[in-house]
Amino acid sequence: MSELFIDGTWSPATDGATREIHCPADGSHVATVAEGGPVDAEAAVRAARRAFDCGPWPATTSLERSSLLHRLADLLERDKQEVARLETLDTGKRIVESEYDVDDIVSVFRYFAGLAGAESGRVVDTGRADIVSRVVHEPVGVCSLITPWNYPLLQTAWKVAPALAAGNTFVLKPSELTPSTAIWLMRALTEAGLPSGVANLVLGSGARVGPTLTTHPDVDLVSFTGGLVTGRSIMAAAAPTVKKIALELGGKNPNIVFADADRETALDFALTAVFLHSGQVCSAGARLLLESSIHDEFVDELVRRAELIRLGGPFDEAAETGPLISAAHREKVEAYVAAGLAEGAELRTGGSRPTDASLADGFYYLPTIFAGCDASMSVVRDESFGPVLTVESFTDEDDAIAQANDSIYGLAGAVWTSNAGRAERVAGRLRMGTVWINDYHPYVPQAEWGGYKQSGFGRELGLDGLAEYRETKHIWHNIRPAPGRWFDGRKAPQS
Ligand code: NAP
Repeated sequence: MSELFIDGTWSPATDGATREIHCPADGSHVATVAEGGPVDAEAAVRAARRAFDCGPWPATTSLERSSLLHRLADLLERDKQEVARLETLDTGKRIVESEYDVDDIVSVFRYFAGLAGAESGRVVDTGRADIVSRVVHEPVGVCSLITPWNYPLLQTAWKVAPALAAGNTFVLKPSELTPSTAIWLMRALTEAGLPSGVANLVLGSGARVGPTLTTHPDVDLVSFTGGLVTGRSIMAAAAPTVKKIALELGGKNPNIVFADADRETALDFALTAVFLHSGQVCSAGARLLLESSIHDEFVDELVRRAELIRLGGPFDEAAETGPLISAAHREKVEAYVAAGLAEGAELRTGGSRPTDASLADGFYYLPTIFAGCDASMSVVRDESFGPVLTVESFTDEDDAIAQANDSIYGLAGAVWTSNAGRAERVAGRLRMGTVWINDYHPYVPQAEWGGYKQSGFGRELGLDGLAEYRETKHIWHNIRPAPGRWFDGRKAPQS
């Protein structure tokens, strides 16, 4: 059984509770893990606090922190196959996707290793010979890092790497559904030489361990990636103690195709945008906006191709996409599709579970396309986080932009056109954290990733990607102290 990792020690949950992890592709047993509760979360926060206040980690040099992150990346490269296998068993995603993810995660750790190593404050020129004035960066303190199940270790890496690069200590709570790679990470951090108490792992449900991690006075920062509703409650929970907070929330992302786009590429990416990982991607292009002159032909071809998508298990080399994460999530997607039907959206394909008997033990759902949609429908407004595409049409550039921006979300979007001027105009007016032009989904660790509107706010806050993980302080050091002159009547006080 895998246990909780608190203060450098593996231990069962205080109340002995456990959870069984099953692969969503076929229901096979993956692992038994400890299921922590509030008492365990409290112990983890206290350990992280002690390690921050009294331990060696926050005082390490930036080069030492950089070296540790590089060692971690080395271990990830060494264990790539094992980590990919663990990720795939927990999520049901294709092994090849998990292997890509591991490569991405290595880049994330190396990127933040580079940032840590390049760390420097700056001297402020006050124009005075008796003052040494400088700006330095310091870690925030104890961070609660809360992650979802769709890209478990990648989402974790985006939090753990900057938190460590800046010298913080943390408590990690992965999704209760996908703990395996977080467990690997704790072992790897220990092997890489991280001192006890800096990294702590609490497994368990958000409902049970979340309140401690988001309200405890010893927690200084909460970094959360997950759904909008949870994000709102976390923001409220963190408010009374005014914690620093980073929220990477959901999206309902428009993919806009003009008539002059390269049709073949736009079609291909329209499928990738929404059906990759069965739509369980925060930036999924689940809202297709087509210029009206190409609408019918484009949808017909899209439907034809969607019906060819092959569902299958993670180790099935012919499979193109896999299952949903859980029975509960599939029911949520089904309810969302039922709402679309009730609202009068035109179901062009999918809308049900596959009938293939070999998929019966997994949580599969057919790629689904609704045409005839508009932004008044909940099926367009809400995030399904499943393989469901809605199609709307637009008349011109202004109409496309107005419709695309008509959303509470602002995470990502794309525009397809061969007119470079239009591409830039549209990209400039979309209210989203990421806009792709004639592409969908790529990202690089060096670029910001964050939301506008209710998609949250994340790494876009920092000029260097570390800003939300550290405080910035101006140190004014008078090296020739002398009696004050405020009241001596000879000259005005120095400003
Ligand atoms: P979720 O239900 O909001 O859960 C996310 C994490 O929060 C899980 O670890 C969950 O625990 C925990 N949690 C739940 N209630 C909590 C509480 N009261 N206090 C503290 N933690 C709590 O989201 P999900 O279903 O896992 O993930 C899907 C969502 O994530 C989608 O909306 C997607 O768009 C979003 N997402 C956004 C990004 C981005 O970069 N913007 C990236 C990936 C995913 P348990 O589930 O274990 O109980």
